[in-house]
Formats: sequence, C-alpha cells, structure tokens
Amino acid sequence: MRETFAIIYILLIILLGLFGTISRRSSKSVAKPVSYLQFTFIVPIVGNLILVLSENEFLSTIGSYIYSIGMDLMVMCLFDFSLSYCGISWRNHKKKCMILYSILTIDIIQYFFNPFFGHAFGMEAITVDGTLYYRLVPYAGQFCHRIIVYLAYATSLAFFIVKTIKVPRIYAEKYYVILFALSLGGIWQTYYIISRTPIDSSMIGFTICSFLIFYFSLFYRPFRLLDRMLANIASKLPEAVVFFDASDRCVWINGKARKILNIHSDNFEHVKKRLTSWFNIVDTGEDNWSTKQTIGFGKAAKHYAIEKHLVTDVKNKKIGYFLSIQDNTEDILNHQREIYEATHDMLTGLFTKEHLFNLIRNKVATDKDSSYSIALLDIKDFKMINDIFGNEVGDGVLKRVANWIRENATEEWIFGRLSGDAFGICYPTGSARLDVVEQRLSKFVISNGSIDQHILMHVGIYNVTDPSIDISIMFDRAHLALTTIKNEFNVHIAIYDDNMRDQVLWNQKISTELEAAIKNRQIVPYLQPIVNNNGSIIGAEALVRWLHPDEGFLPPFKFIPVFEKNGMIALVDKYIWRCACEILSSWKDEKSNLFISVNISPKDFYFMDVYAEIMALIEEFKIEPSRLRIEITETVMMTEAESRMAILSKFRKSGFVVEMDDFGSGYSSLNQLKDMPLDVLKIDMKFLSKAADNHRATTILRNVLRLSNDLGLFSLTEGVETEDQYKMLNEIGCQLFQGYFFAKPMSVADFEKLCDKNKGNL
Ligand code: C2E
Ligand code: MG
Ligand code: MG
Repeated sequence: MRETFAIIYILLIILLGLFGTISRRSSKSVAKPVSYLQFTFIVPIVGNLILVLSENEFLSTIGSYIYSIGMDLMVMCLFDFSLSYCGISWRNHKKKCMILYSILTIDIIQYFFNPFFGHAFGMEAITVDGTLYYRLVPYAGQFCHRIIVYLAYATSLAFFIVKTIKVPRIYAEKYYVILFALSLGGIWQTYYIISRTPIDSSMIGFTICSFLIFYFSLFYRPFRLLDRMLANIASKLPEAVVFFDASDRCVWINGKARKILNIHSDNFEHVKKRLTSWFNIVDTGEDNWSTKQTIGFGKAAKHYAIEKHLVTDVKNKKIGYFLSIQDNTEDILNHQREIYEATHDMLTGLFTKEHLFNLIRNKVATDKDSSYSIALLDIKDFKMINDIFGNEVGDGVLKRVANWIRENATEEWIFGRLSGDAFGICYPTGSARLDVVEQRLSKFVISNGSIDQHILMHVGIYNVTDPSIDISIMFDRAHLALTTIKNEFNVHIAIYDDNMRDQVLWNQKISTELEAAIKNRQIVPYLQPIVNNNGSIIGAEALVRWLHPDEGFLPPFKFIPVFEKNGMIALVDKYIWRCACEILSSWKDEKSNLFISVNISPKDFYFMDVYAEIMALIEEFKIEPSRLRIEITETVMMTEAESRMAILSKFRKSGFVVEMDDFGSGYSSLNQLKDMPLDVLKIDMKFLSKAADNHRATTILRNVLRLSNDLGLFSLTEGVETEDQYKMLNEIGCQLFQGYFFAKPMSVADFEKLCDKNKGNL
C-alpha cells in the first residue's frame, strides 16, 4: 500500500508539473492562474508523499505541515483561477479577495506557531495491515483551517454554480464540468477527513479536477456552440447552401435553398435530383468547381452562380462537400442598368458620345473591307427653340430627332447623341439615300399643339477615306462640311472633301499672318477711279489688296470672307481707313478735291466704335470729312437697325458722305431705304450683266435711278464695263460711274499718274 500510493503520488506530481509547464506556455489570459493552480496542487501531494513514506514522527509532522499549508495555497490559487475562468474582474471584488487572501495567509502563519503551542494538530502512530503510519490528530487550529479552506473552496464553487445558472445552456457545459470536478475533489477530501484513513486518496480526485481545469481552460472548444453558430450563419446566408456527406447524400440545406428548391420538410431525398434538373448541373466529380447559369428568358431570366466546395477533416480526408447557389439576378440587372446608363443618353435613349466613338472605332478597325461614312446632324438655332418654347419642348424636339434617326436607320447604322443638339451617325457608305434624306429634312416638322414648327437641320458628312484617323477627327471633318451650309435654308446636307480641309488650313494661316502683314505693309489699298458724266475722275474707292510674299497678289475675295467670319476684318478696315486718310492728306493742288470711298464691314460695328475711330483719323490727318466717303451695305441694317441709323446720321451731320454699296445685289428693302440717312446709292450693275434681255435690264436701272432721284440721292453705278453701258446710264440719268470701262483698281502711284495724265479733266 505504502509503495503503491508513493508511486501514485509521484505520478500525480509529474502529471501536475507537466500540466503546469504546458499551461505557462499558453497565451490565453486564463493560462497563468491555471499554471499556478497546477503547481500549488503539487504541494499538498508532496506533503502526502512524505506522510505515506515516513515511519518517523518528525518527518510525518513536516509532511502534515506541507500538506495543510499546501491546501491553503491550493484554495488561494483555485479562487484566483475561478475568477479568471468565470470572467469575474478581480478589481471589482478587490476587497473581498483581499479578506479571503488575508484569512488564508493567517491560517498559514498559525502553523508556524504549532510547534510552540501545539494548537493545530498532533501526530499519532497507527498500524494498518502491519505497516506503521503516522496520522494527523486535529485540534482547534486544524478545525479552523478546515473551515477556512472549505469556505474558500465553497466560494469558488459558488462562482461556478452562479455561472451555470446564468449563462445560456449552450455555454454552461464548460462550467458544469469544472463544477462537477471541484465537487468530486471536495467530496473525496471530506470522505478522507471523516474516514480518518492515514492515506489521502482524494489527491487523485484533485489531480483529475486539475486535469479537467487544465483541459477545459486551455484546449476545450465548444463544438456544440460552434455547431449552432455555423448552422445559424449558414441559414442566414444570402445564398442557398446545400450540404452533402461523403456518399453524396444531402444532409442539410439552408432556408434560401429550401425556397429555391421548393423543399418544405427535413426529408432531403429529392434535393440532389432537383438540383440537377433545375440547374442542369453536371457534377464532374471534381473537388471544387464553379459555374454560372441563366434560367428562363427575357425579363423573367434568373442568373445564378453555383460553386462546389469540398469539406475535409483535419487529415484532409473528404468528409463531404457543399454547394452554394447565389442568385445574382439583381446584381446582374443593376450592372446592366449601370452599363446602360453609362453608355446611353438618358433623354433620347441613344448612345453617349464616348460610347458611340468606341463602337465606331471598333467597327472601323474590325471591318476593314467596308467603307463607312460619318454624319454629324445639327439642329439649327436649338437654343432659340429652348428659349422661346421652353425646355420641355426643346427636349421633345431632341427626342423627335432621335426617333427620326432611328426610323431612317438600317441595322448597320451606329448612332448617338454627341452634345446638346448634335447627333452622330456612322453608316456603311451607300446605305443612306442622301437625296431622300435631303427631301425629308426639308419637310421636318414638329407639331407643337396646333402649330407645326419647321425644324431646320443640317448634316455634314465625311466619307471615311482614311480609317486610321481618330473618330473625333472624322467628326471634325463632318463638322467642317456642316459649317459650309450652316446658314443655308434650302441645303441640308454637305459632304466633306479635302478642299474644305485645305480651306480651313488656309484660313488659319492667313489669320495668323494678318497682323504682321499689316505691319510690313503687305496689305495695301488699291484705288479704283470714280468718274462723273464728263468722264472726269472725281474720286476713288479704296479696295484692299494683299501683296503676299508666298501666295503672290491676293484679291479681297480670297481673304475678306475669312476675316468677316472671324472678326479680323476690323483690323483690315481700320488700316485701310488710315491709309485712305494718309493718301488724302498727301494730295495737294488739283488732287486736293478728290475723295476716297472706304468700305465698312457690318462686323466692324461689333468690334469698335466706327464713328469715333473715323473721327479720330479725320482729326489726326486734318482732312475735310466730305473727302472720306463711307460705304456701307444693306446687311449693316440687318441687326440693330435703329442704332446703326443713328451712327450713319452722326456721320452725315459731321459732313461725311454716306453711300449704300451694292444696292440691288442683296436683300434690298426699299421700305428701309426711305428712312435711311444716305447721300449716294451705289447700284451694282453686275446683277444685271447676265440678264438675257437687255431691254428689261435698262428698264430696271431706269426705275432704280428714278427712285434714287426721288429720294434725293446721288446715284453711282458700279461695274460699268462698256461704252454702251456708260452712254445708256448717262442717258437715263445716272450721275457717277465706276467700272473697268474707266479703269480697274490700281496702286496709289498708278492712280496718281492717271490723275496727272487726265489733269485737264479733273
Ligand atoms: P465693292 O465694295 O462693291 O467693290 C467693288 C468691286 O467691284 C471691286 O472688287 C472692284 O474691283 C469690282 N469692280 C469694279 N468695276 C468692275 C467692273 O467693271 N466689272 C467687274 N466685274 N467688277 C468690277 P474687289 O476689289 O475684288 O472687291 C470686292 C469686294 O471686297 C468689295 O466690293 C468689297 O465688298 C470688298 N472689299 C474690298 N476692299 C475692302 C475693304 O478694304 N474693306 C472691306 N470691308 N471690304 C472690302
Ligand atoms: Mg465698295
Ligand atoms: Mg460695290
């Protein structure tokens, strides 16, 4: 018996030492109290080992001390562990803990007085089965010790009892186990005390208890809890999940899967069959795979992503698998909607510019054998439609135009909205009958209530001859074609050709060169004589010329329209006016009576105060205002007629002679003529020159001259080319003449020479 228990105690000591050491290595917060508990459990066992081995009273007494003090230390550590295990903060119960620790410490100290007072215990020898043992005889001190130890032990037990009651059942098991183990140790120990056997076998119970504490604190994983948690998670997953065991039998399906597969009971026999027929799944037997399926058609179509995942045990052996089925229909529809919104114009439903360009780019790059045309359609004065009729009508117009394109398009056309009122189209060349389109455009009408509103649209077309250029450049070219008819009412379609591009480049070139050309005196005035009834030169018209170093002699029609468009005409005019004043101030003697007419472009009025400019020149060069005649055209009156008339009146009041140029060549308004502050009517003979009926031409001229006379205006006919014309005009009452018959426009020097030659006639 003695040997057996000695071996058992040694084994228990080794085991506890082992548990304690392992516990120390754990990083869990409970590890420290667990390891202390393991090590302090060793102390009473060592005491018992000494007791069981000794046949000597002194040694047995030492063993009893170690045993008793060990029990104090053990309950102290047990208390500490219980707080930690039950998640009770030491700080919150600091006072109570301190009291308990103090009492236990006092209990330990009292043993040190036992050798002197003999108040705690004594030893008695007993013989069991012929073997001598010493056993402890308890006195008051030992009874106190037992009460203290039991109280401390019971306090720890109480923590566990409260815990098992308070926490949900699923958590309680880890407290139950410890509670059970502690109770076992306690009962065993009580049995030992009551039975008064010399050998304390309850140490085995404490070691079991210690092991359970060790295991449950550090290694136990609450599988039932995990199980429930995972089951909860799986049932709440947004995707359907179906679990199979290793032999392909369905073991569980979550709520979503029940819905999709229409399974209402826990009988999962049909799950596999339904899965295969529903989703057309062909399981290749691979461990993991994924597939995408679309079930149904059109708007009712459902999109699923199905994945198979293998489930293995710790040794990586297959124990089953699960299928997850995700209904992606909403995501896919959202994605499709996002793509649609990013690629379509919300108002018209046509492609956006960026998307249209991408599509055209792909088309042109992939289909190299076909030839394509790029069309740019622009609604004329769309801003005005918006301003007058409101944005709603404006939006309606855009939708109508978009529909019109749809109606006219064939399947191969790609089209979209480029900006506010511009639409772009790419079509195989030849697939659009331009004559038909032209006709349809001319009749494009939108009904706005009872009113039919004609919408003017222009289309510029670029037949793609160079597919390598960027799409935006293709549209630039179509736009270029469009600008050539922007102000036309009867022409709706213009096709780009390379001359247009050359023209644009030319326009850019001369526009950048103009200022330097003025500075370097490449821009010069030519003078064309103006004669009276006797054929005497009484003045001249200043007509601009550009003596270009590369391009040679440039007549005005080559550059004036360009500068009229971009506003640079103001620079030219200001310069020619200055030249005219310079020339007038240089003329002396006979020539001092001559006048020079200068042209004023309608655009000049936008860029400067024409009156102030000319007055400043007159004052600078000290010239009589009557010698600088002002030529304006009817178009000057097309906008801001009243203020323009006021300016002309100011000119006349200051002594200038105001001439109406090119009368009869434009949209002459006879009505306006009567109110205009004018002195001279310059009749353009060119508009009659091609008239087949000479008699009719003469009749018209006669009547215009009479009208001029009636209005109290002087009349000047320009474009007189023959003697017959001169004679005829003279006969019918014209007073002044200008034309090739007398002289072409010439340099100032030539003009002066001509004047000198005709001195007598001046
Ligand atoms: P315009 O002011 O009506 O000038 C008369 C044009 O008729 C001149 O052409 C002149 O050369 C031409 N001409 C004169 N007699 C005859 C004739 O018997 N037969 C024919 N076929 N033509 C004749 P040009 O010099 O080429 O000027 C053309 C137009 O350019 C001018 O028409 C004027 O509108 C504009 N222009 C010329 N110089 C200037 C200028 O300095 N400033 C502005 N704003 N425009 C100018
Ligand atoms: Mg003129
Ligand atoms: Mg003229």
